[in-house]
Parts: sequence; structure tokens; C-alpha cells
Amino acid sequence: MDQLHFETLAIHAGQQPDPATGAVMTPIYQTSTYVQDGVGDHKGYDYARTGNPTRTALQDCLAALENAAHGLCFSSGMAAIDTLLRLVKPGQHVLAANDVYGGTYRVFVRVLSEYGLHFDFVDMSNLDQVRAVIKPDTRLVWVETPTNPLLKIADLAAIAEIAHRAGAQLAVDNTFASPYLQQPIGLGADFVIHSTTKYIGGHSDVVGGAILTNDTAAYQQLKFLQNAVGAVPGPQDCFLALRGVKTLPLRMERHSANAQKIAEFLTDHPGVKRVLYPGLEDHPNHVVAKKQMRLYGGMISFLPIGDAATAKRIAEKTKLFALAESLGGVESLIELPAPMTHASVAGSPLEVDPTLIRLSVGIEHVDDLIEDLRQALATA
Ligand SMILES: *Cc1c(COP(=O)(O)O)cnc(C)c1O
Repeated sequence: MDQLHFETLAIHAGQQPDPATGAVMTPIYQTSTYVQDGVGDHKGYDYARTGNPTRTALQDCLAALENAAHGLCFSSGMAAIDTLLRLVKPGQHVLAANDVYGGTYRVFVRVLSEYGLHFDFVDMSNLDQVRAVIKPDTRLVWVETPTNPLLKIADLAAIAEIAHRAGAQLAVDNTFASPYLQQPIGLGADFVIHSTTKYIGGHSDVVGGAILTNDTAAYQQLKFLQNAVGAVPGPQDCFLALRGVKTLPLRMERHSANAQKIAEFLTDHPGVKRVLYPGLEDHPNHVVAKKQMRLYGGMISFLPIGDAATAKRIAEKTKLFALAESLGGVESLIELPAPMTHASVAGSPLEVDPTLIRLSVGIEHVDDLIEDLRQALATA
């Protein structure tokens, strides 16, 4: 199907009408086991930790959307990340971005370090730092772009080249961009990871994760680990992600258009000190973002003029923007990273400015969203 456009793949890849009934939507195969015609003679499925047709449809659809030959789905983004990190052996080194997702930092530093993996964290938007810290025993380079919550941009093609020259592989957590806005495999990445909880699911109603790759040997190992370790998603969750991803292109267009207008509104607002959005021309990595992204996404961070109490008042005063963690759903959310999503990194190099406010811009009418921010900033 690789000659088809993204919008078509989002709806059809990995999915055919159900052979038994003609159902247009992939059924939720809510079963733990499958009848065998003879011993070991089955239709490709024997036990549901090992395989499930609803999961297969989602895996194949997400692989197609990331231009990957192989896809594996997991019960959460963190489960996908943990499984991928099992390719790194004790004593080996992982070079990660210094503002990775807080949960990623936590599993690297507080769980996997205990098993003999070594981690360094650098600013991936600074290629000299990447070159300086990569080592002969670096197994994996771990990048997110745009980053959370500072919306920094890393040059994926350049980092892939540095990683490969050092004999390492590149893993990109593409959760913030989604495959509609950015396809890391075409830029040289070996693995793409998603928290499907965010834009892929898109409706704040499911938790899930995925790994996509063209590396067939690594895929075989990861497929073994998916079954051996067992952090698999249930069929109902796969169905929700599969339904959500069908509208990903439409949603990302609107998320990005709304976010661009809101970033411009905030830039012009006298109560705002600084706006972080890769679609703004004054963003330090705007040129790189323009080169590797189709649009700039729905995430904005900004610093209001004032202190942490000012930021708290703004976040508590919006009415349409719900005060909540997470991101990527159709509804707009507002949060303060320091005491909320990034509380677990307080005191670490990932600690964020206590006045920083993060927006996950939804797909409501942008005028309503701007009015909501205007009244919250006015009364702050
Ligand atoms: C949410 C998120 C994760 C973790 O995913 P879960 O589905 O919550 O386990 C990983 N990376 C990024 C960038 C995320 O936003």
C-alpha cells in the first residue's frame, strides 16, 4: 500500500472488511485463546498475549504511517520504551536528550540504571554537544522533537548521521509531532516510539504505545520481548487507537492551525514574556522545524510576566482549556509543568521554570480559545 497517501493509509492500512461478516470496522477480538484445527495447526493466532487480530491491524496501520516495515503495540508508551531499552545490554551507553518526557527520564535513571545501563543527557538541539558526548559503547541515541515542555527541535537527519557513524542506533519518540507532521525513519531513525495515548488515539480515552522499525533483526527481538515480557494492549484499547488514528491528518491540521494563531496572540499579549512554539519565526530552531515537519503541531509553552502564583492563577482561570496533564486530545488543556507533569524531575537537570505554562491546543474554534486565554490573562 506504500504508494497511497497518508490520509488513505490512516483509514485503510492493515484493515480489510471482516472476512466472516463483512464488518467495515475491525472487530474487537475479545478473546484470550483460539481454537486449533489440529495440534499446532492454527490461523496464526494461538494465545492473545502472543497475538490478537485487532492488535495486528493497529500495528500494521501505524507501521504504514511511519514508513516502517514492522510495528509492535504495547499497553502504554512507557511499556514500549521499556521494551525497546531491553535491546541495550548492561554496560552499554544511551545518549538521551536532556529534556525528554519526565516518565522516560524516570525509567532511564531510576529503573534501568539499576540494571547497569549508562545514560548521559545532552541538549539535542546542539549538535556539538551530541558529538562530544557520544562514545564507542553508545548503543542507542534517544531523541524527542519537539521536546516537552520546552518545544526545542533536534535535527533528526544530522543526529542520525552522528549516531550511525559512532555505531549506535537512533530512537525517536515521535509522540509530540505524530507521523502526520514528521516521519523520522525517512530521516534516518532506526526506531520510532509513540505514546498512542496522545495524538494517535486523539480523544483522551485510551492509554497505549508503539514501536515502529525497518530493522528486521531488531523487530524479531522486540516481538519476542513483547510476548516474553507481556506488556500488550487489550483489543478494546487497540480498537480505540485504530478508530482515533483515522482522523489524525484532519486533527493535526486543525491542532497546528489553532496553535499557530494562539502562539501569535500570546506573542502580542502584554502579559506574556516569552512564547515557545516551533512555528514562530523567532523560535531558535524554526529553520530545522520547517525542514523536517509538515506543520508545527498543537503544543505551546509560554512564560507569563509574573511569578509562579501568576502562572497558577492563569492556569486555574481558563474555562475551555481544562486544567489537566496529558495532551493530544481534541479538547484543549492547560497545565503547569513544574508542579504537575514535571514534578518527578524537580532537582534534576530537567527541572523547569515554575512560571512555565503548557498548552495542548485542541480542535475547538480558535476564536473561542483565544477569548478564553484573553480573559484568563486579563484577570491574572
Ligand atoms: C505520554 C508520553 C510518553 C509515555 O506514554 P504513556 O502512554 O503515558 O505511557 C512518552 N513520551 C512522550 C513524549 C509522551 O508525551
